[in-house]
Amino acid sequence: MTDAQPPLVMWHASQVTPEDRQGLLSQKPITVWLTGLSASGKSTLAFALEQRLLDKGQLSFVLDGDNVRHGLNSNLGFSAEDRAENIRRVAEVAKLMNEAGLIVIAAFISPFTQDRALARTIIGAEHFREVHVSTSLRVCESRDPKGMYNKARLGNLPNFTGISSPYEVPEQPHLRIDTQNVDLDAGVDQLIALINGPH
Ligand code: ADP
Repeated sequence: MTDAQPPLVMWHASQVTPEDRQGLLSQKPITVWLTGLSASGKSTLAFALEQRLLDKGQLSFVLDGDNVRHGLNSNLGFSAEDRAENIRRVAEVAKLMNEAGLIVIAAFISPFTQDRALARTIIGAEHFREVHVSTSLRVCESRDPKGMYNKARLGNLPNFTGISSPYEVPEQPHLRIDTQNVDLDAGVDQLIALINGPH
């Protein structure tokens, strides 16, 4: 295609603005991005937060790593390339949901700094809040709810974060929650404060 040809896909603008939807829902749509090791507590925190927000009259939606891999990203594995595409797609969905006025709670291991930075760029820094669920590998491994660490230690699970694939610790997250030291309710309190904090 040359520059002279019209693009085949054109952007069609809506006359309803994100601000209109924010006004309707009386909330600031942001994306809380939970990153951390498997079994660190991301999903548990995410769904507890969703419930607490609903109880307060705030509408949110959880994008959860395992759930998204059942549908939207069912064709992706755990290579670095597929992990990057997983995060890119999820970030695009989060952005759309934010535009629709929803608070998004994204729970993804998202072990690579570069992928999280891409998510931040796609979603927009003003909407993006990075939360490191910083529970230690030792604690996560002792929980091992799905037996995955055990499998990985036995060499039966390639590319498993923390064992056979690296986790790059966020340097300057908006918040860190170590679920060994902070109980679920207190963790949710911290997330609510972040959501309702300065934007
Ligand atoms: P992830 O989504 O990070 O893989 P999950 O939420 O699926 O982690 O699993 C975390 C496990 O840790 C659950 O069994 C949960 O009950 C347990 N857990 C213990 N204490 C906490 C806490 N304070 N916050 C969140 N999860 C906790």
